[in-house]
Amino acid sequence: MGTSSAQKLQSYLSGRWQDGDGIETELTDPVSGAILAFVSARGLDLAGALQFARMKGQPALRELTLASRAKLLGDVADVLTKHRERYEAIAIENSGNTRTDAAVDIDGGIGTLKYYARLGAGLGDARSLLDQGPVRLAKAENFQAIHLLHPRRGVAVQINAFNFPSWGLWEKAAVALLAGIPVIAKPASATALLSHEMVRDVADAGVLPAGAISLVCGGIGELLAHLDENDAVAFTGSNGTAMSIRSHANLVANHVAVNIEADSINSALLGPDAAPGSAAFDAFVREVVRETTVKAGQKCTAIRRAFVPAQHAKAATEALSAKLSAIVVGDPRDETVRMGPVVTRSQQRDVLGGIGRLAGEAKILCGGMDAPHIDGIDPAKSAFVAPTLLEISDPASAGAVHEIEVFGPAVSVIAYQNPDDAFAMVRRGGGSLVASFYSGDAAFLARAVNELAASHGRILAIDPAIATAHTGHGIVMPQCNHGGPGRAGNGEELGGLHGLRFYHQRVAVQGSDTLLATLQANAAKLN
Ligand code: NAP
Repeated sequence: MGTSSAQKLQSYLSGRWQDGDGIETELTDPVSGAILAFVSARGLDLAGALQFARMKGQPALRELTLASRAKLLGDVADVLTKHRERYEAIAIENSGNTRTDAAVDIDGGIGTLKYYARLGAGLGDARSLLDQGPVRLAKAENFQAIHLLHPRRGVAVQINAFNFPSWGLWEKAAVALLAGIPVIAKPASATALLSHEMVRDVADAGVLPAGAISLVCGGIGELLAHLDENDAVAFTGSNGTAMSIRSHANLVANHVAVNIEADSINSALLGPDAAPGSAAFDAFVREVVRETTVKAGQKCTAIRRAFVPAQHAKAATEALSAKLSAIVVGDPRDETVRMGPVVTRSQQRDVLGGIGRLAGEAKILCGGMDAPHIDGIDPAKSAFVAPTLLEISDPASAGAVHEIEVFGPAVSVIAYQNPDDAFAMVRRGGGSLVASFYSGDAAFLARAVNELAASHGRILAIDPAIATAHTGHGIVMPQCNHGGPGRAGNGEELGGLHGLRFYHQRVAVQGSDTLLATLQANAAKLN
């Protein structure tokens, strides 16, 4: 698709598709540089759209039982499944995804909708959730308290990063819609084409009540300035943008609930026992390579730091370097290609620059800070980065590797002397989404969990029994918590029904046991 056929993506606001003024961002094919589409939300009535969601979408969803809302999620998943092939083509074209990468994003989104549809179906006719059963408060046995979760009476504004235009959209929307909260979704501009097509198909199918979902294609303008205490903001993206949202004057003044999923310097830790040739060693190598190359390393959960015992560092770097150097990089339309480009030339600049900064304290073992040469592809228009392996020269004095998130196909190996040394260095990431451990020593795995749980939102502990059965370091399962402390944003998403909490008010109701029994009978159990 060249410039002449590029379309302007409309926003879906107040139940209508609408054009913003001019052009804010061009969406490109990161292989050819061709312009695919434009976005602009300039001049659109975002305050009016918010009001429409509040007045139409909110009451319509609120009136439905949890099981009926769950049915809506199933209907959305069915609509999206019908168009999957077209979405895959868009993911390849606009995000530089291979088919595997596209599946992580598209099927991840549809799968999460289906998961919450199943979970919600089991909640029956209830509209509220019982968080905690009766507790006695005084001498009188009939005076008690229960804890209920009641849905907020506002709108969920959901702002997403460029790397998951499908999964990011639907993992957030599924939870809010099940909670009975209408969604205003704002995909990252650079890859908004897929989100746009998906929401257009869902809107055309008429499966959701009016005002249940809106879409902003382009900048978010003054939307946040119109939110109040009933609303909630769920943000995924960089730490810089997270800071500006967290400190947004209106969100602060109106105490608007904000959930942040930000950047993260995730770790993989090879146990001291895991010698070359062991199942744990092989699982570690496999996972580090997969995490570095799937979606060209553009996953918030991807492994950025790979910790290895000093005695196995040589074997680990050799194995990783051999596998990463063998990855075929190129146009993802070619079936032999294992890794495509990063999404834009500006991301390519950031990633290559980040590798350059890490190289100040590391040796580059493969890849590097120059764009790779690929036959038939113009390096002046494309956005490729070679799979890059760095080895930190002096782990005791290194700093940048624990601070810089290179959001692309690059990973640093860091040798440790003993487990305490490794745990201390992992913690220097300042709070991460996920860490994975690889060992045949159950005592080491248990100790690693105890030492590192407080600085992570999720831990994957791989012993030989699950070496090939696990779902992956970087794959976010809707059953499990997604989020992390510290620089990862201190947020929480998903985790089964736990994810619904963000869209509810937890209320302690104190009263007679007979009243509480009636309220309990009308609420679905959260646990
Ligand atoms: P970004 O530049 O921070 O943008 C994220 C989103 O925020 C985009 O939709 C962007 O819109 C929007 N935005 C920009 N400025 C804004 C403002 N002032 N107010 C409100 N919204 C604003 O991040 P990105 O480059 O898209 O994504 C990469 C980063 O996301 C990485 O650091 C990665 O680690 C992180 N990430 C985290 C997770 C997680 O779950 N923790 C998942 C994926 C990615 P425009 O595109 O229109 O500017």
